[in-house]
Amino acid sequence: MTFPDEAHLITWPENFKAAASFTFDVDAESCTIAHDPTSTRRMSLMSHQSYGPRVAVPRLLKILERQEIQGTFFIPGFTAESYPDVVRRIVDGGHEVAHHGYLHEPMQGIDAATEANYLDRGLEALAKVAGVRPVGYRAPWWELNWHSPALLADRGFLYDSSLLDGDAPYRMAVTRGDSGHSNSRDIVEIPVDWALDDWEQYAFYPGVTGSGVIESPAKVLEMWTLEAEAHHAQGSCFVLTNHPFISGRPSKAVALEQLIDRVKALDGMWVTTLERIAEHTKATVNEIHSHARIEVPSYPGAGASFKPARLLETAPN
Ligand SMILES: [Zn+2]
Repeated sequence: MTFPDEAHLITWPENFKAAASFTFDVDAESCTIAHDPTSTRRMSLMSHQSYGPRVAVPRLLKILERQEIQGTFFIPGFTAESYPDVVRRIVDGGHEVAHHGYLHEPMQGIDAATEANYLDRGLEALAKVAGVRPVGYRAPWWELNWHSPALLADRGFLYDSSLLDGDAPYRMAVTRGDSGHSNSRDIVEIPVDWALDDWEQYAFYPGVTGSGVIESPAKVLEMWTLEAEAHHAQGSCFVLTNHPFISGRPSKAVALEQLIDRVKALDGMWVTTLERIAEHTKATVNEIHSHARIEVPSYPGAGASFKPARLLETAPN
């Protein structure tokens, strides 16, 4: 058995030597509204976003059904309230529904109380619409704060999938945050990678994405196949992030199905939901990783030397 990276050792269930998960962030209009509330005045932009739940999700659900795999769908609360039937179809298809904020709120620089409010609103929406209590969380724009893991643990989340520091899932210590709890708790982290996000490959909208380039699905299929094969070879975890309003368009959906075919064909590849991967990690990994925060007390001025300190936020046990 080879290990994916020395920091995060993991083995897979019997008969499997690597894992893969196909995840879908059903942002719909929420990410544009959160970015710029006046975007609701733009009828065409709203239609570009609503293509996701209206057209793409049903198409993607058919692909997953045909391929007989389960996906993980990260759904902002506002999307759930706007498209309740779509969310119920996802649940009825046997897929995992997970948390992705309420209105895909920007996370950078917000305090713990504000973030807790977003989390709770998102939970309420998913419960009301689909009767779901998610165990997984993905921060909007993958922007986790240092206090976020404690807020997730407070609410019983099993895992997060927003950090970028590993090839394989691991258990991470929950920092003190503002909750006052000790660090005796942990959650599972399933790392992601910008190279495995369809946004970077395909996203373009005037005034929203900047100079986004819409790549050929043939090139993207090649690139993602190489990533999957490399994860498979080293025994790690391939996590693909798709946005239905991007990857659910015709030629991109065809390429995605071809990719799923290829990934399934890799010998010993466990194609499953992030929830199953997190459960396995929690059950089999003993080591708990603590993140050290880099502290720069104050910028001492031009020409002066200063030394940032690594601050371990978790309390000693
Ligand atoms: Zn998102």
